[in-house]
Amino acid sequence: MAWRSHGKTNLELVNNLEKNGIIKSARVKQAMTSIDRADFISISPYDDRPQGISCNATISAPHMHAEALEALEPKLNENAKVLDVGSGSGYLTACFAKMVGVGGKAVGIEHMGELVKKSIENIRKSNSDLLDSGRLEIYEGDGRRGFLPESPYDAIHVGAAAPTLPTELIRQLKVGGRIIVPVGTTSQEFLQIDRISETETKMTKLLDVIYVPLTDKTYQLNRFD
Ligand code: SAH
Repeated sequence: MAWRSHGKTNLELVNNLEKNGIIKSARVKQAMTSIDRADFISISPYDDRPQGISCNATISAPHMHAEALEALEPKLNENAKVLDVGSGSGYLTACFAKMVGVGGKAVGIEHMGELVKKSIENIRKSNSDLLDSGRLEIYEGDGRRGFLPESPYDAIHVGAAAPTLPTELIRQLKVGGRIIVPVGTTSQEFLQIDRISETETKMTKLLDVIYVPLTDKTYQLNRFD
């Protein structure tokens, strides 16, 4: 049912994601209802498919945004800190900021300056308060290094596929924190890794996925596929 949740409005899309069993929690539903996907992609915003957003990047399909929010939901409590690596359009970073509340913080890191600028403009359309309060920040930089100044994090989402386990990102998790990350090249698995102590992690495979690579700028801009 993953690809069958198209809607004519944001609410219809969210309701269909719930009907199809992808959205399970009321908090995820509330976040996805409060952030209008049309602020982040203007053409067919409520289609359940990924779409190009320039720089060889895509805004993920709504069902993948819902899967990511559901997997991280137990860690996205009020006051939590979350890092969104490869924040792209800014859609998911805005959902994270909504879920962690006024005392929480969502940080996006994106290596394409053009997308950083656009994502901030997208968020400003209906959610300026998230930026003005400092509850949401987007930085330009190489997300493979995470974002140390705000670490450690309760939750990290990686929106591009890492070729191997991203150890530096795992290091920036709090004990008790969770990262979800697509790992692989031609075939990729969406992995959930919980940091259960200073030295131990627990890994769970969530889904088979297809994401753009977590890479360097030159490689990304020269990809043709
Ligand atoms: N969650 C985003 C996904 C965007 S696609 C959305 O739905 O809008 C993946 C993003 O990762 C792209 O914007 C790409 O530019 C970015 N990316 C790829 N490699 C990166 C890196 N090394 N550092 C930061 N961002 C990266």
